[in-house]
Amino acid sequence: MNPHGIGMTSDRTRQRMIDRLRLRGIGDERVLMAMAQVPRHLFVDEALAHRAYEDDALPIKYGQTISQPFVVARMTEEVIKHHNPVKILELGTGSGYQAAVLGQLVDQVFSIERIDKLTRIARRRFIKLGYRNIRCKTGDGFEGWPSEALFDIIIVTAAPEKVPYELLDQLEVGGKMILPVGNKKQQKLIAIVKESHGYKKEMLGEVIFVPLLEGVVR
Ligand code: SAH
Repeated sequence: MNPHGIGMTSDRTRQRMIDRLRLRGIGDERVLMAMAQVPRHLFVDEALAHRAYEDDALPIKYGQTISQPFVVARMTEEVIKHHNPVKILELGTGSGYQAAVLGQLVDQVFSIERIDKLTRIARRRFIKLGYRNIRCKTGDGFEGWPSEALFDIIIVTAAPEKVPYELLDQLEVGGKMILPVGNKKQQKLIAIVKESHGYKKEMLGEVIFVPLLEGVVR
């Protein structure tokens, strides 16, 4: 089968998604280009593939969700606004879609997922699609990936109740952590820039993500 599945139809619907993102205020052409490349319909269950290019979060397995395209675009803009990021850590691989979009734009993406079955599915997807600059593993994101630190960016795609400041240890000085923080009903997207002494915090808006939970599910 053609690895791009539903083929031409999805190319056109994907382009419409890009047009809508532009209308909603996503202005960075690099982000729009990256999202035009990644076949989001291959990151959701087949039964939902026809909805893959609507601007909605969709359920994936094990009670998790693939993030809404607009939120992926906003977070990705925030990542590459940063001067020339090369090495990124993502917490919450989920479907692997956000990692795939980032992988179009930076050299190396490391991604951690706590549900082992999701890690395996995402890893298979990355191989099938030829995304060779993404590495993923099952682990507890709260611990980060110390053997690969330091990172230029840490992007968190599930919401802790409080900012896990310990993770700043795995960031370069000048590096940035982008994360939603809050409970199930109310969350704020925050960017924290690490400085040589301390950090600077910026609010980016309201979002809703699944919670960042401790421990690993095998
Ligand atoms: N970036 C994903 C969004 C997935 S939803 C995508 O583009 O599809 C968030 C994911 O974070 C879920 O799969 C959930 O299992 C995972 N998660 C929650 N807590 C975690 C933790 N402590 N460490 C790693 N992953 C975690």
